[in-house]
Amino acid sequence: MYDVIIIGSGPAGLTAAIYTARANLKTLIISGAKWGGQLMLTTLVENFPGYPEGIQGPELMANMRKQAEHHGVEFVDDDFPGMDFSNAVSPFKFTAADKIYESKAILIATGADTKWLGVPGEMERIGRGVSSCAPCDAPFFQNKNIIVVGGGDSAMEEACVLSHFASHITIVYRGEGLRASQIMQEKAKKDSKISFVFNTEITEILGNDHVEKVKLINNKTKEISEMQIDGVFVAIGHIPNTKVFQGIKTNEKGYVLQEGGTHTNIDGVFVAGDVQDDRYRQAITAAGFGCMAALDIERWLSEKE
Ligand code: NDP
Repeated sequence: MYDVIIIGSGPAGLTAAIYTARANLKTLIISGAKWGGQLMLTTLVENFPGYPEGIQGPELMANMRKQAEHHGVEFVDDDFPGMDFSNAVSPFKFTAADKIYESKAILIATGADTKWLGVPGEMERIGRGVSSCAPCDAPFFQNKNIIVVGGGDSAMEEACVLSHFASHITIVYRGEGLRASQIMQEKAKKDSKISFVFNTEITEILGNDHVEKVKLINNKTKEISEMQIDGVFVAIGHIPNTKVFQGIKTNEKGYVLQEGGTHTNIDGVFVAGDVQDDRYRQAITAAGFGCMAALDIERWLSEKE
């Protein structure tokens, strides 16, 4: 029997594990077949405190995992099989990889996946000109020519952040009228470095090592064109990873709802990180939420016992 089983091994899950293990709670992480979360897909991370020259995303995650293992956290490098929590009560029980696991508390820290375009040349250039996080990567695009894809608030916000660094930003939107809120649209439209291309989709991202150009199609006229470009920021939304949890309340966008601190609607099930946060979505905020969840779990267990 574990005191806590953490589902997910990004900054939220690993930070929570370091805290619970150091509080002498028997801790297991179901880390997912691909452990480490979104930072495993990034290159240089310059905004995580403690690394004056920055650190590669996968190295940062490996350090966090090492720290958790050092404090006795156990890992199962497999996917969580799914569970219906509707009528579940602590201790929770589930089977993963033919083994039964039991835990007094569960922490959901499964993160949110970036929605990517799914076009040729995109995945292999993530961190080489393709990004989904302007606050993380904008300083790498000083005086560069950038595309931001999307017509929602994220796209407007990414473009405005990039405008402090890039020489020009083209917002490429597949529709005709932007979906972003009026205030965000106006902010982007007022910026002399930002221009808009409507009814247009990227069909391919090209370049040797880094992004050098994109192929575009006008979805109305079917006209095909190419644009020389240094970077493509994809801002077409995120998908919180909640598919495997039934009976856990989410908001209208699918993010897990917190019911007081990091508690969910099910007593003994907690949540931390991007799976409950569609606003900040940073490694450091996810780590902070992980810490908060660990403290809530510790308190909940001691009150229960
Ligand atoms: P949204 O779902 O609002 O917008 C996604 C955009 O991406 C849409 O314009 C959509 O086009 C486009 N899109 C989706 N899939 C594709 C695709 N495959 N190819 C090309 N384009 C695509 O997501 P956001 O991330 O912008 O916002 C999410 C939520 O967060 C919203 O509620 C938003 O208000 C909020 N938010 C608020 C901010 C703020 O207030 N400062 C900042 C950022 C987000 P289409 O319109 O044609 O469907």
